[in-house]
Amino acid sequence: MIEQSDLRGVMKLAHIPKHKSSPCFRTYSCMVMWNGAVRACNCRFSFKDKTDGLLIGDLTDGSLEEIWYGTSLTQLRESFLDGSIPEVCKSCAWYVPGDHGRDHQYLFA
Ligand code: SF4
Repeated sequence: MIEQSDLRGVMKLAHIPKHKSSPCFRTYSCMVMWNGAVRACNCRFSFKDKTDGLLIGDLTDGSLEEIWYGTSLTQLRESFLDGSIPEVCKSCAWYVPGDHGRDHQYLFA
């Protein structure tokens, strides 16, 4: 893990927001992995932990549209409302509050 002492000059570690009470903007994007796994957000992937809460489906089980509108992604977004967000999101400095990404749903309109 990178510490502040590892950085030089004016570089500073990113601030991790304490309050993440609205769905992260980045849950309105997804990435498709080489093996068909579909992950919400696209800021990270650990090959060691495939159950970090951002895995929302698999293209071998259904279409991208079904995954996009499926319960996994809905539950991930709702987890921000009830405070049960995945650990990977708790420690994330990339959180962007809001649902501005809703416009992305035009992809399947
Ligand atoms: S909080 Fe971080 S890991 Fe979670 S969805 Fe947002 S950007 Fe991705």
